[in-house]
Amino acid sequence: MNPFRRPLIAGNWKMNAGGQEACVLANAVAEKTRRADRVDVVVAPPFTAIAAVAHEIEETRGSIDVDEGFGVGVAAQNMHHLASGAFTGEISAPMLRDAGATWVILGHSERRQHFHETDHGVALKAKAALEAELRPIVCVGETLGEREGGETLAVIERQVRAFMAHFAESPGFGVVAYEPVWAIGTGKVASPEDAQIVHARIRELLAEVSEEVAEATRILYGGSVKGDNAVGLLEQVDIDGALVGGASLDADGFTKIVDAAQAVAEKLAEEEGAPPSRERAAVEEEARELEALDADAASDARDAGQLIAVDGPVDAPTSMSVPPTSNAATGIDPATDLDDAVDHRDV
Ligand code: PEP
Repeated sequence: MNPFRRPLIAGNWKMNAGGQEACVLANAVAEKTRRADRVDVVVAPPFTAIAAVAHEIEETRGSIDVDEGFGVGVAAQNMHHLASGAFTGEISAPMLRDAGATWVILGHSERRQHFHETDHGVALKAKAALEAELRPIVCVGETLGEREGGETLAVIERQVRAFMAHFAESPGFGVVAYEPVWAIGTGKVASPEDAQIVHARIRELLAEVSEEVAEATRILYGGSVKGDNAVGLLEQVDIDGALVGGASLDADGFTKIVDAAQAVAEKLAEEEGAPPSRERAAVEEEARELEALDADAASDARDAGQLIAVDGPVDAPTSMSVPPTSNAATGIDPATDLDDAVDHRDV
C-alpha cells in the first residue's frame, strides 16, 4: 500500500446470500468494521439483495455513534452496458444506482469464463458505469495455462488496455482488481512479490493514460485472500486493497482482512507523520487516562507513606502497594502495546 491511496477491501458474495441472510451479513460487516476509518469497505451481494443491503447499511450507520470515515459501500457484481431496452433479464447502471449501489464489479473471471464476456464488452460496461457515476472495479487476471506459458503480463496488458482510457476523466474513481484465475477459490494465493510485479505493470499501463490516473487508481489483489495472508500482500507498494470472495461470506473472516488493511494503513500514515486515526487516537487517549489514574494512585501511596513515616509504622492497605504502571481498578496495563490493542480490539 501507499499512504496516498486509501485502501479498499471489497467482498464479492457471488451467488450467495441473496435473501434475508444478506441483511444479517451486511449488518455484521457494518458493525464489525465500523472503526476501520482508514479503509473503504464494500460488499457485493446478488442483485436481489442490493436494495435491502443498502437500506440495512444506512440503518446501521444511523445507529452507530461514529460518522466520519464510517461507511460500507454496496456493489453489484455485473451490469448491462446500456441504460434500458429490450434485454430480458438484464440490469443497467442507472437501475443499480436507484437500488442503492454505488459500485459495480466488472469482468470478473467467472463472467469471462462462464458467460463469455470479452475485453471489449467489459470496456463498454466500464464506460457505462462511469457515465452513470457507478464506480467500476474492473477485474483482470491470467489463467493457470497462461501463467505457465509465461503469458501473464501480456494477458494483463491486453485486458487493461481495453478499458483504461475510460479512467481518464475521473482519476481514482475506477478501480482495477488483479485476480489470477488460478488463485480464485482455490486456496492458492499469489506470493506478495509475484502479485506486486503484476500490480506495478498495471500502474505503468495506467500511466500511459496519465500520471494522475496511475497515482490515483487503486489496484486490488484478489484470489484466496484471508486474514492470515492479507498483511503480506497489502504491504506491497502497489497493492491497494483486496477483492475477497469466499472469506467475505463470514463477517469475522472479512473483518480480519479489513483490520489488516487498517493496521498497514495506520503504520504508513505514522511513517508519514500523519495524525493518528480516530481509532488509534482513542486507544492513545485511553492509555493517557490510565497513566494519569496511576500517577494519582502513586501520589496517594507516597502521601500515605509520609503519613506512616510521621505517625509510626502501621499496616498499609494492600491497594497502596500497587506499582505505578498498572491500574488496580481496571487491571489494564497502560504500557500495553498499542498495536496489540488495535489488532485485538473488540468491535
Ligand atoms: C473472487 O471471486 O473475486 C475471489 C477473489 O474469490 P476468493 O477470495 O474466494 O478466491
